[in-house]
Amino acid sequence: MASISLVLTICVLGFYVPAPSLASPSHGNDFLRCLSTDVPGQLVQTPSSPSFKQLLVSSIRNARFVAPATARPPICIVTPTNASHVQAAVRCGRRHGVRVRVRSGGHDCEGLSYRSGRRDSEAFAVIDLAELHAIGVNPHEAPAWVDAGARIGELYYHVATAAPGLGFPAGMCPTIGGGGHFSGGGMGLMMRKYGLSADNVLDATMVDAQGNLLADKKAMGDDLFWAIRGGGGGNFGIVLSWKVRLVPVPPTVTFVKVARTMEQGAVDSVTKWQTLAPALPDDLSVRVVVQNGEANFQALYLGNSSAVVTTMGSRFPELRVTIADCKEMSWLQYTAYIFFGDAINSKPLEALLLNRSMPLGQFVKNNPTTSRKHSPRRRGRRSSAGPMVPPRGSSSWSRTAE
Ligand SMILES: Cc1cc2nc3c(=O)[nH]c(=O)nc-3n(C[C@H](O)[C@H](O)[C@H](O)COP(=O)(O)OP(=O)(O)OC[C@H]3O[C@@H](n4cnc5c(N)ncnc54)[C@H](O)[C@@H]3O)c2cc1C
Repeated sequence: MASISLVLTICVLGFYVPAPSLASPSHGNDFLRCLSTDVPGQLVQTPSSPSFKQLLVSSIRNARFVAPATARPPICIVTPTNASHVQAAVRCGRRHGVRVRVRSGGHDCEGLSYRSGRRDSEAFAVIDLAELHAIGVNPHEAPAWVDAGARIGELYYHVATAAPGLGFPAGMCPTIGGGGHFSGGGMGLMMRKYGLSADNVLDATMVDAQGNLLADKKAMGDDLFWAIRGGGGGNFGIVLSWKVRLVPVPPTVTFVKVARTMEQGAVDSVTKWQTLAPALPDDLSVRVVVQNGEANFQALYLGNSSAVVTTMGSRFPELRVTIADCKEMSWLQYTAYIFFGDAINSKPLEALLLNRSMPLGQFVKNNPTTSRKHSPRRRGRRSSAGPMVPPRGSSSWSRTAE
């Protein structure tokens, strides 16, 4: 029953404009005229605007899509500063057959937040929520409000500084946007104890496919509220803000790093990890990044290093974890360290976590292939083990170079 109603919800609310039209000057002009009645001109950039290209590529993370996106750009990019601008863009899109794409952090691996995705020249526009990035943390309460355009690095920083002792379970790259990340789940190394980001969403505000503002989960109804917490971004409407449950974190956490080459028994260690990781204490998450014939084990322990050395020694002796493999730090430092490594020693955390525009570097696409297929042990030949999905309950952000 639930799945039937979800299918219906997708059909009804999906942003698939009933008769998507090919881009033509008249569609674009009608759409822009419609927008101009409710959205201030400075919030609408067209390809002829001087800063259009810069804005379009500003949060693209997959370099493969930079050139195609600029070659077949949207009719315009709308940068709303309030809900009514989003509503107007959705309604104008419906009225004039223009597909609306929504972008928060721009980390979509397939670029679906800023390109059409169709081979023909479909008319589409981008709603970029970059200007909606407020974060409200009350030091005395566990819930916080996060605008969809906020980056998770900003969220980590504001939570830890406004409410020491609290944190939030989400991913490892600080420039990921809350809009797409929480919509699709949100995995990180506190997942074993506290679940995905989506599991910690308490409420939300959104604009549906008709352009209605749904102010809370009551207005959404159970099925839609369920769907936006993990059903994938861009499918059910445009989330404007999330109310999230903050979680307790200890004053000291420990990050553990151990690398194993094939000669050092990487295959056996990964094989053991597959059965062991889901059975570890909830305070301990171990992920493994397998690349170039090397298995890099990384663990977050919500406690100090002596305790994690003891636990790893008894549960995973093959890794031979010692104090030298451990780094104690605050939870906030960890959120930067997992991505920037030792750069946290030379740069202030503000510079690392509040920087919304990261330079476009090497892109990695995470591939959810099961490790059974790739295990050299099972295939009976030596090769560099491929990307893998970890056992249920452990972290799966392993990666492959794109
Ligand atoms: C470098 C990198 C590191 C990553 N690390 C992790 C990780 O550690 N853990 C993890 O779980 N995932 C990780 N991801 C995947 C990431 O969580 C998803 O790609 C996520 O969808 C990105 O969200 P975004 O807002 O940044 O992206 P966007 O490109 O803005 O959006 C992604 C999708 O969501 C839709 N969307 C965006 N905003 C909204 C909104 N407000 N309402 C409704 N739909 C919306 C878009 O249309 C698009 O379909 C990583 C991705 C990259 C590129």
